[in-house]
Amino acid sequence: MKKAFLLSFLAPLLCFSQEVAITLDDLPFGYSAGMSDSMKIVSTKRMLAILKEFDAKATGFVTPGNMSEDNQVILDLWLESGHDLGNHTHRHYNFTEVSASKYIADIDSCKQLAGEWINTDYFRYSMLRRGNTEAKRDSVYAFLEKEGYTIAPVSIDNNEWIYNRDYSRALREDDTEKMIQLGNEYIEHMKEISLKYEKMGIELTGRSVKHILLLHANPINAEYLHALLGWYKSKGWKFITLDEAMTDPIYLINGDLVSDFGWSQLDKLKKIQSTD
Ligand SMILES: [Zn+2]
Repeated sequence: MKKAFLLSFLAPLLCFSQEVAITLDDLPFGYSAGMSDSMKIVSTKRMLAILKEFDAKATGFVTPGNMSEDNQVILDLWLESGHDLGNHTHRHYNFTEVSASKYIADIDSCKQLAGEWINTDYFRYSMLRRGNTEAKRDSVYAFLEKEGYTIAPVSIDNNEWIYNRDYSRALREDDTEKMIQLGNEYIEHMKEISLKYEKMGIELTGRSVKHILLLHANPINAEYLHALLGWYKSKGWKFITLDEAMTDPIYLINGDLVSDFGWSQLDKLKKIQSTD
């Protein structure tokens, strides 16, 4: 009885001892509804200052399709601030719609164009899509293994990019009211989704898992990353590196899912468990 009482008392505390690695895709800068390169640099400096304030070392994923002569300095800024960079393909293809050979060439092209900045072996699939046939999936797996890449999965998948798309358009139209509304909705959405995956991780493993959060370098995060990281901190979440997160055995399970879509590692584990 006493033990049960103690457990029920401690359980919420255990649930809150969460760890999360922050990853930001589509560097130098993601969708921004036509923002100038100089504004992208200003927004990047803002995000980097926020990460520094929260003592969070992030991993950025580079998409050279977003690079220009004037904005590639952004990649220097990420590295100078102590963050790591990985490969996120050159043209950010939807792998469901292109062949494995075209996709592999695009991974290689990213390395050719951004290799001087990429300082890790991490690779993140564009849209998290790993192939809609076994042959496509396995061709890319074999290529990544041969080239020594480590796939960077995600545990907290979300629709942040949708909020950013609308936010960026409101920013272009100078619609401050809309921007504030979308920013607040974005934070509420991220809280809800983080709590959902926190719970799912505990339900699947019986413990807190080391989370990997998917974000993008974009206008909404230039403004709202502070509120988001502040919320994680207020809930007792600790910021860890991607290297640290990857020590969690949940990421050793590659799974054999063939799908048109991208999957969070936790959704994938849930699916595997339910079909066992
Ligand atoms: Zn992306």
